[in-house]
Amino acid sequence: MIEIKDKQDCCGCSACSAACQKNCIVMTEDEEGFKYPKIDTSKCINCGQCEKACPIINKNEEKPFAQKGYVVQHKNAKILKESTSGGAFTAIASYVIKQGGVVFGATFDEKLNVVHIYAEKIDELAKFRNSKYVQSDMGNSFRLAKKFLQSGRLVCFSGTPCQIEGLKCFLQKNYDNLITIDVVCRAVPSPMILKKYIKMQNKKTASGIFNIRFRDKTKGYKYSALNLYDKNNVSLYHNGIDTDPYLRAFFSNICDRPSCYHCAFKKRYRESDITIWDCFEVDEMFPEADNDRGATKVLIHSQNGRNIFDKISGQLIFTSLPLDKLLNNSKEMVCSVPMNPKRKEFLEDAKKYDDKELFDKYFPITFMTLFEKYVRLISGEFGVYKYIRKVYRKLFGERKR
Ligand SMILES: Cc1cc2nc3c(=O)[nH]c(=O)nc-3n(C[C@H](O)[C@H](O)[C@H](O)COP(=O)(O)OP(=O)(O)OC[C@H]3O[C@@H](n4cnc5c(N)ncnc54)[C@H](O)[C@@H]3O)c2cc1C
Ligand code: SF4
Ligand code: SF4
Ligand code: SF4
Repeated sequence: MIEIKDKQDCCGCSACSAACQKNCIVMTEDEEGFKYPKIDTSKCINCGQCEKACPIINKNEEKPFAQKGYVVQHKNAKILKESTSGGAFTAIASYVIKQGGVVFGATFDEKLNVVHIYAEKIDELAKFRNSKYVQSDMGNSFRLAKKFLQSGRLVCFSGTPCQIEGLKCFLQKNYDNLITIDVVCRAVPSPMILKKYIKMQNKKTASGIFNIRFRDKTKGYKYSALNLYDKNNVSLYHNGIDTDPYLRAFFSNICDRPSCYHCAFKKRYRESDITIWDCFEVDEMFPEADNDRGATKVLIHSQNGRNIFDKISGQLIFTSLPLDKLLNNSKEMVCSVPMNPKRKEFLEDAKKYDDKELFDKYFPITFMTLFEKYVRLISGEFGVYKYIRKVYRKLFGERKR
């Protein structure tokens, strides 16, 4: 039976809960807002299936194998605008749906919780586009994916590396009709903090928030901003990583899941078929796509992944790159983020303080934050932001996006 002795040893993938035939494991929120398995021991028959499904207990040893690397950009302007980076995910997912398959991904539910669901139509893929910077709730996705796989449907499952390894461990066998896509994932913040942020922003708007775009490209791909929308898709708020308190919380590692500070899934040789992540160095890697609309780095790990890439390449402009060049500067792929020394205090204050008080205390708007914002905006207008970013990257590494 699963027993969590140290919270850093549970990534919340829910594979154990999905594997339990007796349904005695319920994923339950802790005081920090993260879900962990809670077992009804009176129903447990000690079969051990939950432990067999856990990707942390059964951590795979990393072994090198042949890989292929690309930088890609979707040819469709609307898809590209809505995607986080270059729209690689949509290219793969659209192909799967055209083959009669199903695609699993992360989206918002009607209460703005981030949840995993599946789509069977091309139009539905829009809700998966754009990264949601919070832990997604897997719900019943693993069991549903298994049902589709057993019925012979092509299944594409996208998620964080721990979710993909959780799915594979839960399935306990390889399926030829499964294609898995993981993102390079720095960490996931607590859903409780996102709720507090939404509550704070909702108080400022009469119409209410119906959608969030964590990586809005209105001011260009390289200047990441968070955008809030009302039910008519009218923008209510737009602020960058310099001034938006939620993005500042995310990039300061102050409220991430404990497992993210000791991530068991940070590696180059992965269990997924395809890994996707941001290409901010597009000017060096793929100058034809250097239009500030976004580009995705793609690392292919399997024959299945190579076959799919051949099928989707018509939707993309792309270049193949030597792997040392592609992987240079991708620290988040292999290194866990450091825990912010104020994490404990922040999460305790989150229970005591009103939403605005909390964000004002830890992420106040100061002269320096405003200065940073206007440097970004003005340098963006004059097309020199990428050079400032490059200098920043050389000096401090790839911290901000
Ligand atoms: C929590 C998180 C952290 C990330 N950290 C980094 C990083 O440090 N460095 C980096 O280069 N890239 C990071 N990425 C990846 C990056 O943001 C883009 O997802 C990637 O560039 C692919 O973009 P795209 O345009 O091809 O796909 P998009 O169209 O943006 O597709 C997004 C895909 O991500 C999935 N997804 C979105 N939100 C979640 C979520 N909360 N949980 C699980 N799956 C989700 C969707 O299902 C979909 O498959 C992160 C993504 C997430 C979700
Ligand atoms: S040991 Fe078996 S019955 Fe008990 S919680 Fe785990 S999977 Fe369920
Ligand atoms: S890591 Fe996943 S499978 Fe392991 S205990 Fe946590 S939720 Fe369960
Ligand atoms: S950092 Fe690791 S543990 Fe955290 S969500 Fe990403 S893959 Fe999972």
